[in-house]
Amino acid sequence: MYMRNVSRRLSLSLSRVLKVVRFRLGCSTLPSVAHRNQGVCRDERVCLCCVQGAPGDEYHALFECPATRAARAPFAHPFLARLQIPRPDPNYCG
Ligand SMILES: [Zn+2]
Repeated sequence: MYMRNVSRRLSLSLSRVLKVVRFRLGCSTLPSVAHRNQGVCRDERVCLCCVQGAPGDEYHALFECPATRAARAPFAHPFLARLQIPRPDPNYCG
């Protein structure tokens, strides 16, 4: 019931809200998560949506991947384009 109320407030379908929640909780289907659970080593957990060979993690999906460029475009802003958001340390366990 709570998720349905959130869904209505955000004007998103329930399935989209659940995808956002899973992404934020680190339970997504991104290779960095899904393949980790399958025992694939970190270097082999690359993005399956492009040919860059980049890590298939949240950072790549949100800021780098050409496959998500169209989804990012409405939020592009000149200030944000100059903002350098560092890639998180993959060895950080905090
Ligand atoms: Zn990619």
